[in-house]
Amino acid sequence: MHPDRPVYLDNHATTPLDPRVLAAMRPWWEENFANPHSVEHAMGREAEAAVEAARAEIAGLIGAEAREIVLTSGATEANNLAIKGAARFAAAQGSERRRIVTLATEHKCVLESVRDLAAEGFEPVLLPVGPGGLLDLDLLRDTVDKRVLLVSVMAVNNEIGVVQDLEVVGAIAKAAGALFHTDAAQGCGRIALDVAEIQADLLSISGHKIYGPKGIGALYVRRRPRVRLAPLFSGGGQERGFRSGTLPAPLVVGLGEAARIAAGEGLLDAGRIAGQRDRFLAALEAEVPGLRLNGDPERRVAGNLNLTFPGELDAQGLMAEAPEVCVSTGSACSSAAVEPSYVLRALGMPEAEARATLRIGIGRFTSPADVDRAAAALAAAWRRVAAARPARTGTE
Ligand SMILES: *Cc1c(COP(=O)(O)O)cnc(C)c1O
Repeated sequence: MHPDRPVYLDNHATTPLDPRVLAAMRPWWEENFANPHSVEHAMGREAEAAVEAARAEIAGLIGAEAREIVLTSGATEANNLAIKGAARFAAAQGSERRRIVTLATEHKCVLESVRDLAAEGFEPVLLPVGPGGLLDLDLLRDTVDKRVLLVSVMAVNNEIGVVQDLEVVGAIAKAAGALFHTDAAQGCGRIALDVAEIQADLLSISGHKIYGPKGIGALYVRRRPRVRLAPLFSGGGQERGFRSGTLPAPLVVGLGEAARIAAGEGLLDAGRIAGQRDRFLAALEAEVPGLRLNGDPERRVAGNLNLTFPGELDAQGLMAEAPEVCVSTGSACSSAAVEPSYVLRALGMPEAEARATLRIGIGRFTSPADVDRAAAALAAAWRRVAAARPARTGTE
């Protein structure tokens, strides 16, 4: 990477496109632009075949069948379709189940989907998490009964990187006859995920979190036993009626290639990324005494570090002092607001500490030189910000 370019350590917000993904997409922008639903002519049939090959790769990443993959515009849409679609279909069938159980630390698009359903007569149940960000499985067991329609628990948290025990969550949901959905936008390609093992009925994927293009994602919809959803859009009935609209063939091909690479190289990536993470953390800890890691130290993905800096400083100020590093203070969607992260607050973290917290996301293309530069820049920024603060007296 160019030495003057900022070091990109915000791989939870989005990942760069893998060059192999770009190469796979190019012919479908430049040469064959046909509508993959135009199967009356050769170009359309060729585009359709490329879309179906990509669908098989996406399915392969999670142990699904190709026809269980519904292509969407991203994980936001997949989560909306899973949650609202399942709830509305069940209600139309006269189901008595009204409760939707989810976590306080879910992505906004899950929380808001569940909240929106309250206006339609459903009952949201938001479960707390422990100080390490993990769901208390006994609490889940006590909560999920025959009144529960759907349990939605994310695979990997986008701020603190913790990995929920989906095998147990799935078993609990199934034992109560509830549907199980997981937002796997941060989990796919980073941890092994198999829809049969976790007994998922619905699973959401995002292209741009796995080195694929933005604007494409997928929802896994189980076929045996069959999961039924009310569609969000009216239209031509594409994607088995779940999602009308012309498929963006280049983006679908890109997601397929990203899934193929993730299936083959995800574990290798994780090993290398863990090495960069340890190198970065060791360098920063040596310069910043009292730095604290948030989220369970064991059950977490390799690339995530969520770090609270000592001295109750403002993480925004810290980032301003280190413009050569791209990191974030939390989820990209809420960092424009002055509110501290609701995920950190759900861990029981005081507001001042949440404000002094940075999210670091190390990825496939992060080099040792990148992490060295970033750690040095952040340490220097911390020294400047801490020195500028008036000395504190008394107990803290
Ligand atoms: C990024 C993300 C989403 C949204 O995905 P898009 O494809 O950008 O719509 C949803 N959930 C989690 C956990 C995410 O990290």
